[in-house]
Amino acid sequence: MKIKMRNNNILDKTKGCLVGLACGDYLGMPYEFILPYKVRSYFQSHKLEPVETQIFNKSVTGYYTDDTSLAICLAESLIEKGFDTRDQFTKYKMWLREGYATPYGDRAYGVGQQTLKFLTRQSEDNLPTELVNDPKAGGNGALMRCAPIGLLYYKDPKKLIEYSLRSAIVTHNNTIAAWSCVALNSFISYALEGFFKNDYCSALLAEIPDIPTELHNLLNTNLHEINEDELKIRGYSLDTLKVALYAFLTTDTFEDCLTRAIAVGGDTDTQGAVAGALAGAYYGCEVIPKSWRNTLIRHDFIVDLAERLYNSEDLVTKVLYIINGSNRKMPAHFMSNGNRTQSFCVDFDISETDEYEMASKAWRSSTDQSVIKIGEDIMLATFIAVKLDGEEFIPKLYQSITETYPEELFNKHKDYFEHCADFGKLRAKSS
Ligand SMILES: [Mg+2]
Repeated sequence: MKIKMRNNNILDKTKGCLVGLACGDYLGMPYEFILPYKVRSYFQSHKLEPVETQIFNKSVTGYYTDDTSLAICLAESLIEKGFDTRDQFTKYKMWLREGYATPYGDRAYGVGQQTLKFLTRQSEDNLPTELVNDPKAGGNGALMRCAPIGLLYYKDPKKLIEYSLRSAIVTHNNTIAAWSCVALNSFISYALEGFFKNDYCSALLAEIPDIPTELHNLLNTNLHEINEDELKIRGYSLDTLKVALYAFLTTDTFEDCLTRAIAVGGDTDTQGAVAGALAGAYYGCEVIPKSWRNTLIRHDFIVDLAERLYNSEDLVTKVLYIINGSNRKMPAHFMSNGNRTQSFCVDFDISETDEYEMASKAWRSSTDQSVIKIGEDIMLATFIAVKLDGEEFIPKLYQSITETYPEELFNKHKDYFEHCADFGKLRAKSS
């Protein structure tokens, strides 16, 4: 018996996103304060490789900076609390004060001005909840850390947009800074869903036609035709998003994307982090060069964090996604005399007489074909829930499946639906 899952590589892509972010951050960091034209000429004859650098008077390689630390804080908060800006903010403060989520757990490195200002002056008790456009807050600080929201809410565009905005404004209450997070997280969601990348900009424009003008213009730009020398790289979130998108859309591998995002010079660690998160979500973790991964400090922790984030997704959403994406031929067909013309539920290969009788009865007594489909959905959902150790979610699943159908239909076949739920449970436990 097999449950067909679409996009079986979503876990690898989730890992790819966080590992890609951290690799882009540490690989780009050594070039951050070098003049862009020097960085460009350096990369004309050099490959992107981990290099040793001095941090707090220590020689280190694979040392990630604020971008990754804050993304780790956000991911951990989402896993532990769901979406809770107060907890996110508290963790960012722990990073600043105690070096929480840093490579060696000692000292925060690379804090941006805007982030510093908010983390030292703003209290958790009155965090902003409305977007007001502070013209000074358009920096990269929210964009560089926002990817975990795209990873967790990739199936729910409404939540993805709302949470990207609300999470950004606790430090960067600026229209472009906040909407850049929406754009990046939407692209991450397309990547996880397995969409081909050339359509990302037009897809986002179609999804959010009233996106702020500057972003609208960026999404309408043909990035294949831009001149690298004209890319503005000022640490402004829109510029960084543009560099990351340019690198992502004009290359075909994770390695080339990251190299391009860093080799243009500028805010290289953040450009690397944003491009790395996006390319990692698209290409997956397996294809990130081993030499880059092996050098990353706390690599295994970050992989494990991605796995925890993946598993923290609401089980009801996950199960509904699986059953709606499965390739079952539904509903099963019954002839007018009640004989079955194909398996009642192709995923289960049901042969027991009573299930067959019950299905036939339900089928005959209803003119609505959806009865069998609802029954199959309920059975498969309970089966998966038990397999995923989520038996306590069965009532919620049951409700989610039946609430989209007319109440009288549900009431008329209640016994049958309950039987389907019991049967799914039974099969999960006996297989
Ligand atoms: Mg940084």
